[in-house]
Amino acid sequence: MPHIYKDEGVVLKTIKLGEADRIVTVFTRANGKVRAVAKGIRKTKSRFGARLEPFTRAELIIYKGRNLDTITQADILTSFDEIRVDYGKLRAGAALLDVVEKITPERERAFPTYALLIGGLRALAEGRPNVVPSFLVKLLSISGYHPQLSSCSGCGDDAVLGAFSPALGGAICQACWHVAGDSIRMATADIELMARLLSSDFGQPAAASTTLAMTQALRKYAEYHLERPLKTLHALPAS
Ligand SMILES: [Zn+2]
Repeated sequence: MPHIYKDEGVVLKTIKLGEADRIVTVFTRANGKVRAVAKGIRKTKSRFGARLEPFTRAELIIYKGRNLDTITQADILTSFDEIRVDYGKLRAGAALLDVVEKITPERERAFPTYALLIGGLRALAEGRPNVVPSFLVKLLSISGYHPQLSSCSGCGDDAVLGAFSPALGGAICQACWHVAGDSIRMATADIELMARLLSSDFGQPAAASTTLAMTQALRKYAEYHLERPLKTLHALPAS
């Protein structure tokens, strides 16, 4: 059984390891989230150069180690430079990478997550509107945290929905608003749009206030269910 495998992946984060190496977390097409050492990556004349930075999509050759794997070759496929050079896109993109890093287990193949990540980064690079809440609602849904958005997640009624409760699992009606301890008031139209984002492509337009309301409701929902803070999503500008 060879200990070398080939895969493509998007770099989620990198951390320093000693003087010249880095540990790179990559979300791969066939192996899910993988952490691997990239040797010599911080030397300017390294054969990796600046390739293995967050957002980079690369074809990788990885040597399977006893503890950590080692990336032995990286060929860039997409650099997503449009995201790096725009501060708003960079912050939104960093939030996308962070939430994928936090929601996915290591070494669990999840092609829908990989496809969604590529789609989200492309939409962001192209400057499409409303990418962050669209990405969040889709990612939560395919990761086992599907939010209930078309009927009340408290009582099951399909009455007018006017709030959102992370603990109850999604949108709630006026009656349940008084029962839920963590209700977030939301406009009915904003809840309806959030439901539409689940089944539509990236690029659905929305008012900045709506984008922000959906992002923060979904952030609280994700934080409640993942039991960890998602700092990159706090006070994210509406984009
Ligand atoms: Zn209800």
